[in-house]
Amino acid sequence: MPPKNQTQKNNPPTSQKFKNSWSGQEAQNNLPFFENHHRKLSGELEKWAAENLTNISSKRSEARAVCKKLVVQLGKAGWLKYIVPRAQGGIFEQLDVRSICLIRETLARYNGLADFAFAMQGLGSGTISLYGSKEQKEKYLKPIERGDYIAAFALSEPNAGSDVAAMSCSYRWEGDDVILNGEKTWISNGGIAHQYVLFARLEGAKSGSKNISAFIIDAATEGLDDYSEPIEISAPHPLSKVILKECRIPKSALIGEEGRGFAYAMATLDIFRSTVGAAALGFAKSAAILAVKRAKSRDMFGGKMADLQIIQSKIGGMSLNIEASALLIYRAAWVKDLTGARITKEASMAKLFATEAAQKIIDDAVQIFGGQGVVYGEKIEKLYREIRSLRIYEGASEVQKLIIAGQVMLE
Ligand SMILES: Cc1cc2nc3c(=O)[nH]c(=O)nc-3n(C[C@H](O)[C@H](O)[C@H](O)COP(=O)(O)OP(=O)(O)OC[C@H]3O[C@@H](n4cnc5c(N)ncnc54)[C@H](O)[C@@H]3O)c2cc1C
Repeated sequence: MPPKNQTQKNNPPTSQKFKNSWSGQEAQNNLPFFENHHRKLSGELEKWAAENLTNISSKRSEARAVCKKLVVQLGKAGWLKYIVPRAQGGIFEQLDVRSICLIRETLARYNGLADFAFAMQGLGSGTISLYGSKEQKEKYLKPIERGDYIAAFALSEPNAGSDVAAMSCSYRWEGDDVILNGEKTWISNGGIAHQYVLFARLEGAKSGSKNISAFIIDAATEGLDDYSEPIEISAPHPLSKVILKECRIPKSALIGEEGRGFAYAMATLDIFRSTVGAAALGFAKSAAILAVKRAKSRDMFGGKMADLQIIQSKIGGMSLNIEASALLIYRAAWVKDLTGARITKEASMAKLFATEAAQKIIDDAVQIFGGQGVVYGEKIEKLYREIRSLRIYEGASEVQKLIIAGQVMLE
């Protein structure tokens, strides 16, 4: 039994205070990293998301169709203008990481697939935005921005995930053509993408980060199979292997300089890594808001669940972790936007902290919901499945720690 002498003064702040600091434009008012256009974006997206993202199917069998539809919706509403440069229809000259983080945080708070659809248009086109030729940008970025093309980023392989420089997917030249062979796995949007930004090593070259090049490959190219091996994961998302067998593409598919692919992949991830933290923050806020509401309304031991100090301790911890995550994420994005420099350490810190914190927040929220928290299809249960893979993809947490240590020791 809990102690009987718990009083009202120990209760957590009112839901109004939580709402003010955790969601929408008000949350950004508490942070120093934004300009007025960011706050405006946040307010407008909040309104759009509330109107468009509340009744989305989470059925496994419908994930691909839902994702395709979301890309079209995001394009029509103009949100994909934030993931391409101005010359190809975007809002900013260069990608504005704070805007991308704000959009991911907000979409994730409403719907995991909406965040995924937005994020993959960005990750799948980021290498083209950064290093593509004018022709490549014109050909791919405009339809990606309109939501007409679905983008994908194919780096990981069965034996090269964390140790991605160990990749064995290969290419060789035949005159002016490139011939690709090998297997990519865990490819988001695999099976529904119109094209893949794909990384491969020059045939016969020794392993390591050298001799890897980046290519853009249309999904319909002969020799590319992205439908035979779909992958089902706990929170349904379009995902598959991409198998290449004597897949022939023209020289014009090479992105930037030959042999610079590994550096291009890392620079692309540098931009999008902090945005993974932002998505985690959105999931965490969603769970925390639900948990506070539940604790304040659930009758327990002659009072409300929120009267119990152990529950208050959980809520205090959630709030602390949410705000610390936001500070790290938007600090990383702000440094990138202002300096244009690599933010390897800051992005890793933001991703590591925010994804680990979100996992703990969502787990605590499930605990607060009790049995209801593990009922299949409940919002809180979906968040529990949704958050897990963020601690693995774009660099597992252990890898982020190594990256941070490496950067600190360089200083
Ligand atoms: C939902 C989802 C979507 C994805 N989307 C894409 C995509 O679109 N494109 C793409 O290219 N890839 C994608 N990936 C792949 C993802 O980036 C890899 O899963 C990730 O890099 C880890 O690689 P791995 O799964 O091979 O695990 P492994 O490399 O086998 O690592 C397994 C575990 O080993 C531990 N570990 C790793 N390195 C170290 C270390 N140095 N020290 C200590 N422990 C360590 C970590 O705990 C890690 O989780 C996606 C993955 C998931 C789950």
